[in-house]
Amino acid sequence: MPAVSRPLPPLTALAPPELEWRADDISDAPYASAYGDVYFSRHDGRAETGHVFVEGNRLPERFAAWRETRAFVIGETGFGTGLNMLCAWACFERHAPAEARLHLVSTEKYPLPHDALARALAIWPDMAARAGALLDQWPEPVGGVHRLWLSSRVVLDLHFGDAAERLSRLDGRVDAWFLDGFSPAKNPDMWQPELFAAMAQVSRPGATFATFTCAGVVKRGLRDAGFTWRKTPGFGRKREMLCGEIAAPPDDRRRASTPWFTPPRARPARHVVVIGAGLAGTSVAAALARRGVTVTLLERDAPGAGASGNRQGALYVKLAAETNPQSRVYLAGLLYTRRWLTALDPEQHLWQDCGVLQLAPGAKEATRQQRFLAHHALPERVVHGVDAATASQAAGTPLDAPGLDYPQAGWVRPDRLCRQLAASPGITQQRGEAHDLDFDADADAWRIALTDGSTLTADHVVVATAHETPRFTPLAGLPLKPIRGQLTHVPAPADAPSLARVVCAGGYVAPAMEGVLSLGATFAPGDTDTAVRTTDHARNLDEFTATLPAFAEALRAAGVTLDPAACEGRASLRAASPDKSPYAGPVPVREAWLDDYAVLGADARRVPSTTGRHHPGLWVSAAHGSRGLASAPLCAEVIASRLCDEPLPLERELVDHLHPGRRLIADIIRGNATLSTSSPNDDAQTSPTTTETP
Ligand code: SAM
Repeated sequence: MPAVSRPLPPLTALAPPELEWRADDISDAPYASAYGDVYFSRHDGRAETGHVFVEGNRLPERFAAWRETRAFVIGETGFGTGLNMLCAWACFERHAPAEARLHLVSTEKYPLPHDALARALAIWPDMAARAGALLDQWPEPVGGVHRLWLSSRVVLDLHFGDAAERLSRLDGRVDAWFLDGFSPAKNPDMWQPELFAAMAQVSRPGATFATFTCAGVVKRGLRDAGFTWRKTPGFGRKREMLCGEIAAPPDDRRRASTPWFTPPRARPARHVVVIGAGLAGTSVAAALARRGVTVTLLERDAPGAGASGNRQGALYVKLAAETNPQSRVYLAGLLYTRRWLTALDPEQHLWQDCGVLQLAPGAKEATRQQRFLAHHALPERVVHGVDAATASQAAGTPLDAPGLDYPQAGWVRPDRLCRQLAASPGITQQRGEAHDLDFDADADAWRIALTDGSTLTADHVVVATAHETPRFTPLAGLPLKPIRGQLTHVPAPADAPSLARVVCAGGYVAPAMEGVLSLGATFAPGDTDTAVRTTDHARNLDEFTATLPAFAEALRAAGVTLDPAACEGRASLRAASPDKSPYAGPVPVREAWLDDYAVLGADARRVPSTTGRHHPGLWVSAAHGSRGLASAPLCAEVIASRLCDEPLPLERELVDHLHPGRRLIADIIRGNATLSTSSPNDDAQTSPTTTETP
């Protein structure tokens, strides 16, 4: 029977824990009043972690012996203060070879507020540097997955939500488990058979576990899920604890009802060619390079030559009123990009977290925003509703519409960002135009033919060439549409008023950068002309003066003419998929899917058991539309994580939502799929130009 998957939980803020601070042997330790239990031993929490979890999983010797190119993965069931994970990281630094990498996955249902986390970790001053890395990136308490780069070789994925539910959605496999959480007597809801079954399902063969408790429910649960266990001496006054392993984890049946999304088998990744040096390509290249992969970044022009070459772009999302997978991906992407930019450029030369106001100039959008707020009780620091007066105050200019305020969003210099990413260590930039790709089965490698007649070979290829992606034979038929977008640049004299937020309505305006305001962008599906047009400037200026009349007036008063004929700007082509979500993942073998899943066209319930056939080592990151700043860096992590056989930074359902084969399977089910490999760009319909928020 196919596994039944439950809907994802609501996209909301998680409640903080009820905390008390108690002095014992340790002067100031957190205590969970709702559970009547401690976060760690008040006698010596660190020694307890070392004994139970680190030694219980034999981490020092396993780290010392680790020679795999993939990361060693630790899973945990209650992140709490992070003490266990910080200790595991310290142990890794002490014992693992220099090129080894560590991937931490932890679930937490009641994330500590930032100040409480700081207070708890202050107990150990010698861990201050590691605690600081965690605190600097500590996410807002939004349910979902939050990826943090703790160091160049240590990643932490925080899965906020219930442990059993989160692990049941984990796309990745674990080498060692820290089975923590308040004691089974005080927190019986967590220690359920579903938890142990979910752990077993995502364990690697031979995965170990350790836990402080010997409760019968835990022993039985682990045994029923396939783990063996033994008792060993406990820490301090506790006589015994449990540790053990799972030799043969059960088959992962979670994609039984969607076998086409089953990930391809991992293959070596010594050399990867990334085609296209826009934001999608440069962020994938950098994500692979930081994992030690040798990358060649092939680009016809220069990094950021296409739609990623704008001098200024909004880091912004537009979320649906009713939660859908696309909104979840984009919100996760926005929050990831924020953390990623903070680490990449803490001084904000490449970006500004000034916040974004999404105005609702008409009743229809105002109602939509109210519905959004009613469905999404998200933290204020992520998004909240504002009336016109508050919006005006935030933007620093009079506005006459209410809206949504995203205080953590802002703007980015995409052109510079692409250049900086392309220059990352481990990436060789090569100028050249890929003409086509083919897989040489004898050599088990890809051959990339360049238009100058030369050839590159690689274990993997990532295609990130926006609307041009389907020109490559194995990608023919991937539905992508080019969308022309033009930005208008308006001078902003030093004595003119300034905007304090990016303001979006029909279009968007970012605060002035180096004396120039960027307004935009036009939106012309199917139009592939990149010449700058005065008519498009006029459209952008009309939109600007309608959204920000007082601000426009103040500019005029400062001597700015706002004449379309005198404006400068830039036009480029973005690419969109039919459902407006990006493609990020492995490339299906179109003919094989048409054959293997043809039966679905007659009866969508007759799901074959054949797993999806993919071109070995071929990946795509495309269709980022005008929101690539929010989607491309997270999609890069999706691809790099899969390619390097690591846990993914999104729930399995959302990974599948990004799958480049999703439209093909939908077409097969609707009976619309054909073997035709003509590019949809050949017959792209041209639609009238409008302005659209990015
Ligand atoms: N490992 C932690 C550390 O190093 O500080 C200590 C963990 S503390 C004893 C237990 C943690 O489990 C708490 O943070 C609690 O909020 C979390 N927790 C309790 N029930 C949970 C559940 N069902 N799912 C996820 N986390 C849960």
